Amino acid sequence: MGQTARTTKLLLDLSARDQGGANAGKRSHLEETSKILDAARQFYLDFFLAHPEKLMERVEVLSKKTGEVSERLISADKLLTWAEFHTVTTAEHPDPLPEWNFSQAFPDFPNRYRRSVIKDVIGKARGYLTTLRKWQHSGKKQGKPGIPTASNHPTLYAGTYTLDLDELDLRKSFVRLKVYTGSTWAWVQYPTRYNRYFEQRRAEEGWEQESPQLVLGKQSAAIHCLQSKTIKARKIVESKRDPDLVTVAVDLNVKQLAVITVRQHGTIIQTRFVSDQGLDQARFRHLGRIAKKQWQSGQAVKGERSNQQLWRHIRRQNTDAAHETARAIVEVCEQYPGCVLLFERLRTIKAAGGSKSRRRNRKQANQLKGKINQLAKEKAYAKGVVSVEVNPHGTSQYCARCGGKGVRFTYQAGQRVKGRGGKLFFCPVCHYECHADFNASCNVHHSFFREFHWQPRTP
Ligand SMILES: [Zn+2]
Repeated sequence: MGQTARTTKLLLDLSARDQGGANAGKRSHLEETSKILDAARQFYLDFFLAHPEKLMERVEVLSKKTGEVSERLISADKLLTWAEFHTVTTAEHPDPLPEWNFSQAFPDFPNRYRRSVIKDVIGKARGYLTTLRKWQHSGKKQGKPGIPTASNHPTLYAGTYTLDLDELDLRKSFVRLKVYTGSTWAWVQYPTRYNRYFEQRRAEEGWEQESPQLVLGKQSAAIHCLQSKTIKARKIVESKRDPDLVTVAVDLNVKQLAVITVRQHGTIIQTRFVSDQGLDQARFRHLGRIAKKQWQSGQAVKGERSNQQLWRHIRRQNTDAAHETARAIVEVCEQYPGCVLLFERLRTIKAAGGSKSRRRNRKQANQLKGKINQLAKEKAYAKGVVSVEVNPHGTSQYCARCGGKGVRFTYQAGQRVKGRGGKLFFCPVCHYECHADFNASCNVHHSFFREFHWQPRTP
């Protein structure tokens, strides 16, 4: 059993009113709200840091199960009640601490927002005190932890936020938010840039809705909807004992981004190649242009895209390719419920030698590999598929059929040309010949089951 989380963004429409967006005033309300919440957070951060002994108080807890009494750190809920008791004016408790009177400093502050702010601060202040104590114990002079900042994205609990979905026309959906106008608190409606993708993710089975966050950018504003899911998956040791276990192995490369092989009962039952579709070459050309412009330096050429734009383009292409490849890997996994996903522990190709753009291109390719690896693992886990990293030793050098040491080669004008960069693999022991990346992918299964010791056998 494990937990996984994901975020889906819902953009608020802040374009001009006549284009169907919110007006300028509504945009400033969001900023005001964020500002006053930051101020309230600062208030409670100061309050808690002024009472460190309460924050780190140890209380006796009676276990309902065993009836035993144990000592534990005071719970966040208890701290919340304690903080409210000392700072908020209520009918039963009309006088909070005079120097910590929140009700006076922030009149009419909505309770939900106050509680979300206090909870947020408890985590921050405790984390700070723990690292501070560790630092004091260590006796070091350097590395004193800094006091945490109070600013954070506002969390929207029920009672401060509702999503009104107009079922007939999803494009006319609204988000109702409790915002601070600069003088009072009010409910305001914000048009959204609603889309089907958002609705699909929201309604997907098995995902639980968490409290969303309001994230303000320089030009944009968005609601980040958090979802979590409990994953039920077998432990790897259990899986390994299953004689019908399906393993999905992935070999990550530069031109063939991923070679996916599926194995059951000792035989490969499916293979999928995910090509980079010319990405590596295109990136190399872009990097060449960047290097040339940097060498020329000085004035930007009119009408030509700047290096910044080129870098952004390269990064976006990499991200897109990583998502697409990860999706392809998970698609294969989904066909075999209960399978295990196998990766090699990542090796980085040294980005040395060759031209500057060549070195940079190697670096980018390495980053892409890491990104695919990470995304595929996350996406697969959300579907209940656990991944394992296997030892990469020998997977590209030895024969997947007999374990003998092989050679790489290419065909040039019908002739075999041996060379380390060759796309094909040949085993001189059993005369097996195949695509080198396919051979490596098959070897990942061997590495997982520890089947070969990579010693040449005599035929
Ligand atoms: Zn062989």
